[in-house]
Amino acid sequence: MGHIKLTNVIKSFGAIDVLHGINLEINDGEFVVFVGPSGCGKSTLLRTIAGLEKPTGGDLAIDGKIVNDVPAADRGLAMVFQSYALYPHMSVRQNLAFGLENTRMPQAEIAERIAEAARMLEIEPYLDRRPGQLSGGQRQRVAIGRAIVRRPVAFLLDEPLSNLDAELRGSTRAELAALHARLSATMIYVTHDQIEAMTLADRIVVLRAGRIEQIGTPLELYNRPANRFVAGFIGSPH
Ligand code: ADP
Ligand code: MG
Repeated sequence: MGHIKLTNVIKSFGAIDVLHGINLEINDGEFVVFVGPSGCGKSTLLRTIAGLEKPTGGDLAIDGKIVNDVPAADRGLAMVFQSYALYPHMSVRQNLAFGLENTRMPQAEIAERIAEAARMLEIEPYLDRRPGQLSGGQRQRVAIGRAIVRRPVAFLLDEPLSNLDAELRGSTRAELAALHARLSATMIYVTHDQIEAMTLADRIVVLRAGRIEQIGTPLELYNRPANRFVAGFIGSPH
């Protein structure tokens, strides 16, 4: 499961209106990418879905249940940030276990999930190292691993590759696509990188100043952009 529906979601910070009524339905297993210029509200939208921001208005439903008042930790989602957010004093293994240990999950199950995620992400050799002893790419894998072990209904990724150099970004992008195919989980992915959006997305949501300009497959947006803004953002000649 991992069906997410937003109905007229509004978010304001005091007098600043950031999201102006977002209507969006994301299907189970879909890879949806949010694009748009800096400051248009991509992170706010993602954080609102995650439960890290409370919507000022509207409804958010996960698998048919309104979750407006459900705390972030109980929504069955996992968020991956650009800045890794790993605990520097803990080993990779402990970082992966964190968040599972305050559930009632048996230790054997925790160990099994860590082993599986480590295998998938090829970070087995680093399990006993600390984040400071890893490269940026390895740290980002650990951050993704920390999401995987929770077996979320959806992954929310906020510019997860933007701290990596170009080459590593390319290879990690391909791994993310493979991971999505393998996990068949819903993924919502924020980026301002057109190539990432075009190659990863089942559908792209183009945002501008807190509103959705267009939603469509990469090909639809490329071939039939709704306006010049979308065309410019997607790199379409239309
Ligand atoms: P993006 O991720 O697309 O760059 P953000 O969602 O981070 O955009 O920000 C959208 C707008 O909301 C910006 O104008 C930003 O300054 C504002 N904003 C975001 N978070 C807060 C906050 N906690 N308090 C006040 N304004 C905020
Ligand atoms: Mg952002």
